[in-house]
Amino acid sequence: MRARVWGCRGSLATPGAATVRYGGNTSCVEVRPPDGSLIVLDAGTGIRSLGLALAGTPVHEVDLLLTHMHLDHIEGLGFFTPLFDPDCTLRIWGPSPNGTTLRQHIATYLSPPYFPVPFEQIPARITFNEVWDDAWELDGLRIATTPVSHPGRTVGYRISQNGTSIAFIPDNEPALDHESGLAVAADVDLLFHDAQYTDAEYRTRVGWGHTSLADLTNYLAAAAPRRALMFHHDPAHTDEQLEQMLDDARRGFDSGELSLAHEGLEIELP
Ligand SMILES: [Zn+2]
Ligand SMILES: [Zn+2]
Repeated sequence: MRARVWGCRGSLATPGAATVRYGGNTSCVEVRPPDGSLIVLDAGTGIRSLGLALAGTPVHEVDLLLTHMHLDHIEGLGFFTPLFDPDCTLRIWGPSPNGTTLRQHIATYLSPPYFPVPFEQIPARITFNEVWDDAWELDGLRIATTPVSHPGRTVGYRISQNGTSIAFIPDNEPALDHESGLAVAADVDLLFHDAQYTDAEYRTRVGWGHTSLADLTNYLAAAAPRRALMFHHDPAHTDEQLEQMLDDARRGFDSGELSLAHEGLEIELP
């Protein structure tokens, strides 16, 4: 399996000179199993670049796995070129928001006045599958979801095949629930995890749904991934601040490999 980061910023896209190294696009990761099928985790602004990169190699099936409905995780969807290919089937998986369906929420966002094209006129065939605490087979992959600690209904994902596994938990507040997401994160080869705040910042942001560095290192000790990537970088953090945060986090996690997710990062798992 191969994973590529197209966006790893949290909360709001943050382009500019201070974010060049790690990138300003919001949450989007491409996962490719050996058979070449296309799995996309979240549809933040990074998904636009993924769609452009697919030009010339048309895809007929895409599985889009959404963690939750906050805008930083869906705001790029209308700019994902396969949406405008009538030969493409886009299967969207995700939790239903409170009080509505997954389909209603996405169709509302991808319609006037938020978006110029009415949802019914989008050329691709789009299907919806609501997930919560589930596991299923998808093209030879095993996918599992579990609810995580975050405002609104939010899940984390685990994708595994032949003993290789990736977990994706971009938004999580383990300080409020130490077990949050461990059902999918435990013992994975590669974990993408929320690392939004320094410990000092977190003190005034309890309940906002994110992870401090101290909580991250405790969480990694419990999950024991072979490799972890700090994800969902705060819009206020410059490249230099992120590197300082990595240094601080590494002091608390020495049993595996820890680094910062950055746009363009590609990881091949055996
Ligand atoms: Zn987010
Ligand atoms: Zn969120």
